[in-house]
Amino acid sequence: MNKPHLSTIIVCIALCFPVLSPAASIHKIGFDLYAYISDNDASANSTFLVSDQGILVVDTGLNAQEGRKLLEQIRKLSPAPVRWIVNTHYHPDHRGGNNVVGPDAIVISTAFTRSQTAKPAKESSVNETVGPNGLVLYLGGHEIRIYHPGPAHTQGDLVVYFPDERAIATGDLFLTNSCPAMDDGDMENWIAALDHMLALPIEHVVPGHFELATKSELQRFRNYLADLRDQVARMYRQGLPLERIQGSLALDAYNNFRQYPNYEATFKDNAAAYYQQLTKRKMQEH
Ligand SMILES: [Zn+2]
Repeated sequence: MNKPHLSTIIVCIALCFPVLSPAASIHKIGFDLYAYISDNDASANSTFLVSDQGILVVDTGLNAQEGRKLLEQIRKLSPAPVRWIVNTHYHPDHRGGNNVVGPDAIVISTAFTRSQTAKPAKESSVNETVGPNGLVLYLGGHEIRIYHPGPAHTQGDLVVYFPDERAIATGDLFLTNSCPAMDDGDMENWIAALDHMLALPIEHVVPGHFELATKSELQRFRNYLADLRDQVARMYRQGLPLERIQGSLALDAYNNFRQYPNYEATFKDNAAAYYQQLTKRKMQEH
């Protein structure tokens, strides 16, 4: 058998790789409901509900380019206008596509997210803020429950639950098989928010980033945060400095989790974020 010539291999790598590289994918997760799983780790996933009255989109990606990719997929399924956009939080990778995906849409967020993103009044978009009691929309015969679970990944996250479809869009409260980035949020309330989600009837979990998931991945992510919390809290009470705590973490059960040092999304970064929360709380108590 002839061995392939080296130049043939190089040509094949050059020509074949783009074909083999992952592309954004659309998953039908309910009647009229779709998950858009981004092919760019730096850009968030989206969830959208299609109806004759208009389309609701949860998160729009990092920028105009990512927004166009999302809109292209939406247009394959429906010509209806995008009338509502939910931004799960203020990070740019979740709302950078807003103006492309739904230039005339009502943007739904928490007041905190709005405070972090509001433009000068004359160019501001139509905005609806979700208070402590949440917001329930009825669209095309579907119920959509939008609620703020309290400080978690940031101070102003939203979660979107579709009870009829047993589906949930978590924003960055959950990433599939990955350490999360932690903003100025609250680790303990974050775990409580995940426990609340796990108590809901759900089959489809759309994470902030990476693959579409089920309840078991959500459970495992929750267990990771709870293990991290327990270990850091115990060593913190013993008075160990952060570096010693980071060196003593026992998280082998989560060795396949993605870790991104450039996004401060590693075991050590997560331990540091919680350590800072504990330190801040202790100072407030005194
Ligand atoms: Zn985020």
